[in-house]
Amino acid sequence: MDKARNRRMGSKYLVILLVLLSVIGCKQKEQPVEEEVAVIEKPADIYEFGFNLSDFVVKRDTVRKGDSFGLILERNKIGYPRIFSIAEKARDTFDIRRLQIGKPYTLLCSKDSLETPRCFIYQPNQEEFVVINFQDSIHAYTSRKPIKYVEKTVTGIVTSSISEILDKKGISPILTNMLAEQIYAWTIDFTRLQKGDSFKVIYTDKYIDDTIYAGVHKVKAAFFNHKNTPYYAFRYRTDSIKNIYEYYNEAAKDLRRAFLKAPVQFSRISSRYNLNRRIAYYGFALRPHKGTDFAAPIGTPILATANGTVTESRYKGGNGNYVKIRHNSTYETQYLHMQKRKVKVGQHVKQGDVIGWIGMTGNTGGPHVCYRFWKNGKQVDPLREKLSQSEPIAESLKDDYLEFIKPIKEKLDSLPILENSNDEQNETLISQNK
Ligand SMILES: [Zn+2]
Repeated sequence: MDKARNRRMGSKYLVILLVLLSVIGCKQKEQPVEEEVAVIEKPADIYEFGFNLSDFVVKRDTVRKGDSFGLILERNKIGYPRIFSIAEKARDTFDIRRLQIGKPYTLLCSKDSLETPRCFIYQPNQEEFVVINFQDSIHAYTSRKPIKYVEKTVTGIVTSSISEILDKKGISPILTNMLAEQIYAWTIDFTRLQKGDSFKVIYTDKYIDDTIYAGVHKVKAAFFNHKNTPYYAFRYRTDSIKNIYEYYNEAAKDLRRAFLKAPVQFSRISSRYNLNRRIAYYGFALRPHKGTDFAAPIGTPILATANGTVTESRYKGGNGNYVKIRHNSTYETQYLHMQKRKVKVGQHVKQGDVIGWIGMTGNTGGPHVCYRFWKNGKQVDPLREKLSQSEPIAESLKDDYLEFIKPIKEKLDSLPILENSNDEQNETLISQNK
């Protein structure tokens, strides 16, 4: 503790002591003076950035347009030679030119009439802060605010959209995005959840400094009962060096499956996606081919290339018998010229399910399936699409994985599915660094 601060605290105590002594003096003359110190109530200490804020006059502001470190200190009555030496000595830790407009800063100033700045604290983000301390000698360092992770659970029954349900429960939309776009993108189409589907999620929320909510940190495990089929997902670290996490189901199967390479087994590609295709029969006129043709004998089964919901199943002109499937909010696939269709609109199909058979219906010169791949409503070449693809879990990790998920699955299974009230969350503090 520096001398100046001791002196300040000393004078403060003296004032309180005098007041107390005069009060006590009136009532109890025989009270021994030595005990007075214990009676004094010190103002409540508030710690932030590693300082006791009650030792200072605290001035908070944000960096404004045109502001610089020098201008901020100058406004607060520090002269330029001093500013220059502060900037110079802090340089190795923090380049003062990196102050960004809109970011908060705090000045800890002396508790006297001059209110001289003693310390400049800059927050480039919610977690980090840079301290430039010039109370005595000048030193600067970067530090982090304490982070707390709290494990929470949420369950529910689908009545409307999942984001609406979670919103009613006061849960961040980030959780919906994590479930729909990261974890279940290839197994459940969140735009087609059905009434009566249910879910359970174990996730962690992140807090900075105990109080600032910093959003959903991660989903530890999830369960969806979708169309009476269970879909589990467990987060597991597959690479401890690169810190890579992946989600697998209860049988260690990966959830982020890519599309099957072809909708027909043992087929050959007879015509690729080609926007510049010209056909002799039409006098070499430009006839773009926006599909990929897979030739196979009539009657060969045609497979859904990924999980999804059938959105079209009918006969139409040049397409002949065809089926269209929506897989998620981004991708759809379409299968043309079928001899016969096996699925109906609204039907949920899994990757590899037979949806029809190879035929020659519609506009076609030979038995094949014209496979069309839609991304955001536009036809693209599936052979050129960079599709999210995860590796299946390594055999060497499988036992460890199954052991790892055992207690988590037990917890998940034992969670009661509650109606959509918002008072059901239970919370457990799982880690904290202070
Ligand atoms: Zn085609």
